[in-house]
Amino acid sequence: MTHLPNSLQGRDIRFLMHPVTNARAHERTGPLVIARGEGVRVFDEDGNAYIEGMAGLWSVALGFSEPRLVEAATRQMERLPYMHLFSSRGQEPSIALAEKLVQMTPEGLDRVHFTNSGSEANDTVIKMVWFWNNAIGRPEKKKFIARLKGYHGITIGSGSLTGLPGNHKGFDLPLDFVRHVSTPHHWREAHEGESEEAFSDRLAAELEAVILAEGPGTVAAFIAEPLVGAGGVIEPPAGYWRKVQEVCRRHDVLIVADEVINGFGRTGRMFACETYDIAPDILVLSKQITSSYQPLAAIVFSDRIYQGIADGSERLGTFGHGFTTAGHPVATAVALENLAIIEERGLVEHAAAMGRILQAGLRRHADHPHVGEVRGTGLIAAVEFVEDKAAKQGSTPPGRLAQAVAAAAQRNGLLLRPIGEAVCFCPPLIITEAEMEELLERFARAMGEVFGA
Ligand code: PMP
Repeated sequence: MTHLPNSLQGRDIRFLMHPVTNARAHERTGPLVIARGEGVRVFDEDGNAYIEGMAGLWSVALGFSEPRLVEAATRQMERLPYMHLFSSRGQEPSIALAEKLVQMTPEGLDRVHFTNSGSEANDTVIKMVWFWNNAIGRPEKKKFIARLKGYHGITIGSGSLTGLPGNHKGFDLPLDFVRHVSTPHHWREAHEGESEEAFSDRLAAELEAVILAEGPGTVAAFIAEPLVGAGGVIEPPAGYWRKVQEVCRRHDVLIVADEVINGFGRTGRMFACETYDIAPDILVLSKQITSSYQPLAAIVFSDRIYQGIADGSERLGTFGHGFTTAGHPVATAVALENLAIIEERGLVEHAAAMGRILQAGLRRHADHPHVGEVRGTGLIAAVEFVEDKAAKQGSTPPGRLAQAVAAAAQRNGLLLRPIGEAVCFCPPLIITEAEMEELLERFARAMGEVFGA
């Protein structure tokens, strides 16, 4: 496709290098430029409408035109457009949001630290845990255990935690403070005839073996998404979280729940830690916290960690870490309004109800000869395609079928995200029943176009 040099597409190709994009392929195809949004829909420059089946990047909980978020941002911009939190400085929206997050998150999480993004939050978690262990006299306890297919960001530290080769290749990552254990994907990874519980036993034993091999005195934390998101929407098998938590507790290894995608209703509960009965020491939140109208992430953590860091600040020196715009007052003001709307409108219960329709609707395709697995819970799901169903063999070249289905969906006015052999679904929490039916219809049409009716 050629684009005129002075068109938006032409200027994009000329001047922009996109994140997570194959630059040469992009030069050939150009961007899909989105001009505006309304509810669950976005519109391109030519006025074509799409249902945003991915809520942007798993993040626009309230859809693309919530006036109250605009008003909250405007009010805060007019009153105090910026103030940092360094060196004991404060501002009201950050204080109020910290209090709100402590109140609404699971028990045992008592303190909040803000960053701008999920990657910054996970990098900060690494540094907080290192500082804490230095402060309490355990300088050897520094390693993190993460999982293959886990996604925790792309900065040098968080990118090392991420367990996806595409985020390591070419970047000299991961750094060597990280060990990766298996993906808890029963359909793909379990042995022939192995039950979910037996599979979970095996993964818990693997985690324990890694901790023992490294030496429990050197392993600081286990980080995981309760339900894997960007690795392809992978639900934990039965018993998994109970078993791995037992292992972590036995060896005094902190549990870090990365709910950057899962948090704020996505799995049908406010937090996926409730869905899967997880009691983390550290909870990482972002994306839906502001519906991504503003960049913001929050680390909510235990008093035990806070007290160690606070003592350490007296003994080792100040906790010398923070970002200029972390806890930005406009972002925290928007977050407060966003959370108020989620609660007032009962959007978590709504997400659970719409999720049941989404999950049932997608599972109608489960018997399709090219559908290997339909998975997910609440308003997050994936359909994984196979060339050969019995052998669970993916497509050639890898990802071909998922990319074809996502492209056909786009032609039918539905934006989905192909990841590996799967296409992923993560619509805004505000989606109505009629819009969900439309989404499912468009997906069925895309399937028909790729595989024949
Ligand atoms: N953790 C998880 C679970 C994520 O899904 C993401 C982003 N997709 C991140 C961390 C990183 O967040 P960000 O892109 O805001 O840096």
